Amino acid sequence: MEKDKESALDFYLNSSSDLIEKYESFTKIITNSAQCKKCQDVIVSNHRHDYVSCSCRAISVDGGKSYLKRSAVDFSHLIEKSSIRFYTIHEIMVEIKNCETQSGFGGDYYIKKKKLAEEFLQDSKAYYAIKEKDDIVSQLTQSLEIKRNAPKV
Ligand SMILES: [Zn+2]
Repeated sequence: MEKDKESALDFYLNSSSDLIEKYESFTKIITNSAQCKKCQDVIVSNHRHDYVSCSCRAISVDGGKSYLKRSAVDFSHLIEKSSIRFYTIHEIMVEIKNCETQSGFGGDYYIKKKKLAEEFLQDSKAYYAIKEKDDIVSQLTQSLEIKRNAPKV
């Protein structure tokens, strides 16, 4: 996976459910997948109308990278295996530009969406900045430990 997409996945995985709910429209499905507890099959839906069932037919997945749709006789048999990420900085900038163009034609929807996208951009930048600082600190700590453990000449 590209580095910016990896970061966007990392941001998603470290976000609270409130934040994920707030920015739900700025998420992308990486894999649409589930596991069946009865037959242990892991099934994947690869595109929008790719309806896949496990071998014992207890669970099904559908929707590919467009939406997560599940069917099951009993949902307790289903283990969610999907992976989702947030938009990258580049993707959200494209979205903001798109909203700007669309709001030019009038209508509240794109003005609201643009505002939310800008908030998302700020939150992303804040997250990546903290993350970067943490990485630098851990690199420094590591190199200090290496120095400390190095044999004296
Ligand atoms: Zn099954």
